[in-house]
Amino acid sequence: MGFVVAALLGACVGSFLSLAAWRLPRGQSLMWPASHCPACGQTLSCRENLPLLGWVWLQGRCRTCGAPIPLRDWLVEGLTAGLWVAVALLTTPEAGGGAGMLRLVAGLLFISGLLLLLLLDLDGFWLPEPLCRWGLIAGLATTALLALATGMGPFTPLMHHSLAAAMGLLGLDMVGVLGTWWLGVPALGGGDAKLGAMLGAWLGGRGLLLALTLAVLSGGLFGLLARLGGRLKARQPFPFGPFLATAGGVVWLTPEPLHRQLLSLLLPWLNTVGLTLGG
Ligand SMILES: [Zn+2]
Repeated sequence: MGFVVAALLGACVGSFLSLAAWRLPRGQSLMWPASHCPACGQTLSCRENLPLLGWVWLQGRCRTCGAPIPLRDWLVEGLTAGLWVAVALLTTPEAGGGAGMLRLVAGLLFISGLLLLLLLDLDGFWLPEPLCRWGLIAGLATTALLALATGMGPFTPLMHHSLAAAMGLLGLDMVGVLGTWWLGVPALGGGDAKLGAMLGAWLGGRGLLLALTLAVLSGGLFGLLARLGGRLKARQPFPFGPFLATAGGVVWLTPEPLHRQLLSLLLPWLNTVGLTLGG
């Protein structure tokens, strides 16, 4: 039952994320006007506005002017529903009571925010600074509240996660500067570093390192395959934010004891230099 509710709410949130990803870059309000066809302006009725079902009902076309409604909107609704179920599945058994509930709500917020950032960066190479900033603050607040809910002092985890946020920001900024100097074209957008800081606030040092490793590996593999397949020209940029956001979400959904194992698998030299990875 809980998972059906998670899927339904997730589909509704997915519908909102699609709308936000369309309206934010155009400077439009998220609240007003109601959902309408971007081609002819016709407002959608309640039934047509239903997540997942509305699109099927309309067979992917506007009832008034026949303009196609992007299949992506429908996919984002389905994906968000799936992600919400995944968060609910992976969170609930871990801890009962206040901490479990907090982790569930925070996880839903985090994953939904990451998906919005992914869509925005995919569409227009844009990771809005306010969104990353509020994401960072929410990550630190969650860290402190989770510590309190499990009966620990909030200050040590808060310090660890703040440090990880700073490392994410500076680390990706430095990679961007060095990459630009080496390649002669902008290697990373400034938004990537801000998203890195947000991931640090949520995931802590070890989680951030794992997320960055996964993002670099998947982004590099994508770049290589796209280049070999002729989809990307030499030095043609592609957004890195989607890889960061996906990796951050994967790490959040991975049980923490696995982080260390995955890291020693992916970065075995960390053990040889005897680096201990805090929080
Ligand atoms: Zn229309």
